Amino acid sequence: MNTELLLSNLRNIPDFPIPGIQFKDVSTLFKNPACISEMADEMVRLYKDKGITKVVGIESRGFVMGAILADRLGAGFVMCRKPGKLPGETIKQSYGKEYGKDVIEIHTDALSPDDVVLIQDDLLATGGSAKAAIDLVRAFGVKEVHCNFIIELRCEGLKGREFIGDAAELTTLLTIED
Ligand code: AMP
Repeated sequence: MNTELLLSNLRNIPDFPIPGIQFKDVSTLFKNPACISEMADEMVRLYKDKGITKVVGIESRGFVMGAILADRLGAGFVMCRKPGKLPGETIKQSYGKEYGKDVIEIHTDALSPDDVVLIQDDLLATGGSAKAAIDLVRAFGVKEVHCNFIIELRCEGLKGREFIGDAAELTTLLTIED
């Protein structure tokens, strides 16, 4: 994978959305076709032999590579959304994150016990949103849960990988120490 290409196209915005946060803006990766291809090729390489049947994207930046990956893997795509957005019956999970609290939900008919699931999002910080998504997916009794992030952000207070632990098999494309 061309790490340099991806890192040089990732934009850092200091103090967004609140003072002290170094926001890793993946919109500058998504707008570059070479970066989309590079990320998709690497994700396909990581997951093509895992028997993935559903990719679950976490709203909203997880929808971009998640949907591309679902197509490339021949899997279905499922949205894990913020509250009040999904029209059907849902199950919900609340969680804490690097800057605040939130809730995510998923349709109750989105997955079934024979699914092998890959959860996709742009960035792993505390791991709170990923763990909430893992807990939602696990509630369906699925066979396996994998997790992929474009960026793993690590610093003294951010140890998302350890927070997820063995709840899911985890891969990340770029590790950034802040
Ligand atoms: P967490 O639940 O703490 O792992 O936070 C991950 C979620 O919050 C991801 O969906 C990210 O999009 C977003 N996020 C948290 N921290 C940052 C950051 N420093 N830069 C960009 N996005 C972030």
